Amino acid sequence: MSIRKILKYGEKSLREPSKEVHKVSAKIKALVADLYDTMYKNNGVGLAAPQIGENLRVFVVDCSTENEPLNPITFINPKIIKKSGACKSHEGCLSFPEAYTDVRRYANILVKATDINGRSFVIEAKDGSLLARAIQHEFDHLDGILFIDHSINRFEADEVLTKYNLPPVEVDKLLSEPELDEMLKDSKDD
Ligand code: ZN
Repeated sequence: MSIRKILKYGEKSLREPSKEVHKVSAKIKALVADLYDTMYKNNGVGLAAPQIGENLRVFVVDCSTENEPLNPITFINPKIIKKSGACKSHEGCLSFPEAYTDVRRYANILVKATDINGRSFVIEAKDGSLLARAIQHEFDHLDGILFIDHSINRFEADEVLTKYNLPPVEVDKLLSEPELDEMLKDSKDD
């Protein structure tokens, strides 16, 4: 299909909520193909439709390493039905070229979604795996939430954003996550 332009942090539509998909039409299939082409071209592990300017509840991930076969997973209308445990995740985003910072994530998730054939599936990702973290990151894009909103240290995040000529952290978007903070603190005490 085609490689699309990825919207950069600061573009308004990255903050807009995305709409449910009513039917896995040929148009949605083409969108998914574009997401994969664009993600692989940019060496990403995930890409969400709003990042290419389509505010629809669709994202793709592939957490395979270089020596493994590709493992593309398509999520349409995903719902996180269970989450537990906390982990620290050093994350970046294709909409934030080169900028990485530490964020809070759940360690384990159970997700229900529709696949490219219109079938429902459930996937579990555990132990703070790359897959668990990537799904949460991409899922957030569908609600206009960005990884920096989960920053553990927003001043550190600001420094990184400035370094790569990106707009600063949007303070009103920062998420208060006392449950994750508490669990992260406990794991540090061990
Ligand atoms: Zn992202």
